[in-house]
Amino acid sequence: MRNKQLKLILVSTPIGYLGSGKGGGVELTIISLVKGLISLGHKIILIAPKGSKIPFESELLEIKLIDGIDQPSWQHQKRTDPVLIPSNSVLPKLWETAIDLANHSDAVINFAYDWLPLWLTKTHEIKIFHLISMGAESLIMKEIISQISQLFPYQLAFHTKRQSEDYCLKTDPIIVGNGFDMENYSFNEKKNGPLGWAGRIAPEKGLEDAVRVAKDLGEKLLVWGLIEDKEYASKIENTFTKESIEWKGFLPTNEFQDQLGLCRALINTPKWNEAYGNVIVEAMACGVPVIAYDLGGPGELIEDGFNGFLVKPNDIEGLINATKSISEIKRKNCRDWFEKKATNKVFAQRVQNWLYKGLNKKYL
Ligand code: UDP
Repeated sequence: MRNKQLKLILVSTPIGYLGSGKGGGVELTIISLVKGLISLGHKIILIAPKGSKIPFESELLEIKLIDGIDQPSWQHQKRTDPVLIPSNSVLPKLWETAIDLANHSDAVINFAYDWLPLWLTKTHEIKIFHLISMGAESLIMKEIISQISQLFPYQLAFHTKRQSEDYCLKTDPIIVGNGFDMENYSFNEKKNGPLGWAGRIAPEKGLEDAVRVAKDLGEKLLVWGLIEDKEYASKIENTFTKESIEWKGFLPTNEFQDQLGLCRALINTPKWNEAYGNVIVEAMACGVPVIAYDLGGPGELIEDGFNGFLVKPNDIEGLINATKSISEIKRKNCRDWFEKKATNKVFAQRVQNWLYKGLNKKYL
């Protein structure tokens, strides 16, 4: 079984097309993993919302684009809200296509943080593997993920251990981390640049804490990311002056990393159980140390004092002190950490091991 070429169907997030930014970190995770799995010789059919773009071609990759309405994302609903499927939703259409093709594949990998594909695991003969991309943001999602863990424990994987702790799991969680294409990020040695922050502009990302740090130090924070919550963004704009924040927009990876690499530190201030934190690793790939709250993914990606600093959640003073000490971190450490732990090659190998393990076992 080892090293056997797998025929895989990857089903994308239904929150937005790949490249829209609406899907958050999952978009880059999918693109990086497709390339990594192809480099290991696997054959991929990617099913994704219409408009999705993959920045490379391969004879091992086929893309099927599906039209339909975006799903609402769970992180902006109440914990007890029911499952929503809008009329003409892209989610069931993605899965109709996956089910049609599944008999000719070894496995289907789901990237949607949504109820339907998890539930389908119980009813179909096809092997659906789920890379869970968030902590438990909703009760019904927590329930279905816990149920699937009881029935098919090896068909679930998580980005980090702390993320997985939100769920009631039958066995130790399978942790696959994440990974990014090394060719897309250049190491930048420059040490004295500005402070940066990156992510979706939405309350769970806590941008206001990072702006406070910049304001206190009399600096301007550079901010990259999609404005997902306009009300939240204008509240920040009204609280701070133009001297403390500069909106850089949502950029494609090549431009994003070019600008990010000039920073002397990235500040990462989540207010939720961040499942991973792509931007942390993208910064490190450019040689930029990261100062982050010690919760969720950031707490596992940052080795305090080696590739950045960890600070108690919501501790602004702690962030300020860490920022003042950032020159103690060697930028080379950050790049080295990335090359060892989070390239798309090592990520794809971990995912491959997970699939082999799940395909070999019988449950129930
Ligand atoms: N990003 C981007 N361009 C930008 C700013 C951010 O492409 O100008 C991407 C970044 O590469 C990352 C994603 O936005 O993949 C944010 O993902 P993260 O895991 O940090 O947070 P999430 O949005 O998933 O909560």
